[in-house]
Amino acid sequence: MAKSLSPVCKLCRREGEKLFLKGERCFTPKCSFEKRNFAPGQHGRTAGRGGGKGMGTGRVSDFARQLRAKQKARRIYGVMERQFRRYYDTAITRRGLTGLNLLQILESRLDNLVYRLGFASSRSQARLLVAHGHFTVNERRTDVPSMLLGAGDVIAVREGSAKLTYFKDLTEYAEKRNVPSWLNRDIKGMAGTLSRMPERAEIDGNLDEQLIVEYYSRR
Ligand code: SF4
Repeated sequence: MAKSLSPVCKLCRREGEKLFLKGERCFTPKCSFEKRNFAPGQHGRTAGRGGGKGMGTGRVSDFARQLRAKQKARRIYGVMERQFRRYYDTAITRRGLTGLNLLQILESRLDNLVYRLGFASSRSQARLLVAHGHFTVNERRTDVPSMLLGAGDVIAVREGSAKLTYFKDLTEYAEKRNVPSWLNRDIKGMAGTLSRMPERAEIDGNLDEQLIVEYYSRR
């Protein structure tokens, strides 16, 4: 009997590509996408890579491409639709390119920054750690993963939490993780600073923000 996939891994199959939602496991042969790269609900490999909903064989409509681009970004950052829409509405009101503004908002979420700093192996793990109150922002304890940070804000592991085995063992793992140039990390001090907002070229994830803007523009 086939082993059922975790809901998270199904999202990768739905999008037809690896979204790297499960930390270290995504880089091992255990990755479900490596074994079963066809869309959930399909019983064969007819859909193949790129075979997510609305992305089957035949011509893909503009709307389907826009929808998929939006869903993919939502899934990578772990954001619900309503909140994602709110981020888009905020992005419009900011100066500059709406798409880049949107990506910068997503990158400035506390859970994403904890992940980017190497204090968690995935955004979902970062979300849990933040929700359990293990971090401070500018020396104030917070348990809000969606908190948006600005340039100069400092994230740190809470003093009491630093004594936990997880954080004691974290140094070796964190050292192996590259930190983006727009963040400063102090591994010994278990802290990091958002020194500036990332430029477009510094945001990975194979995202197409223009398609996301087009998706919301037509609604
Ligand atoms: Fe699961 Fe990660 Fe592989 Fe996606 S990339 S299928 S989340 S293990």
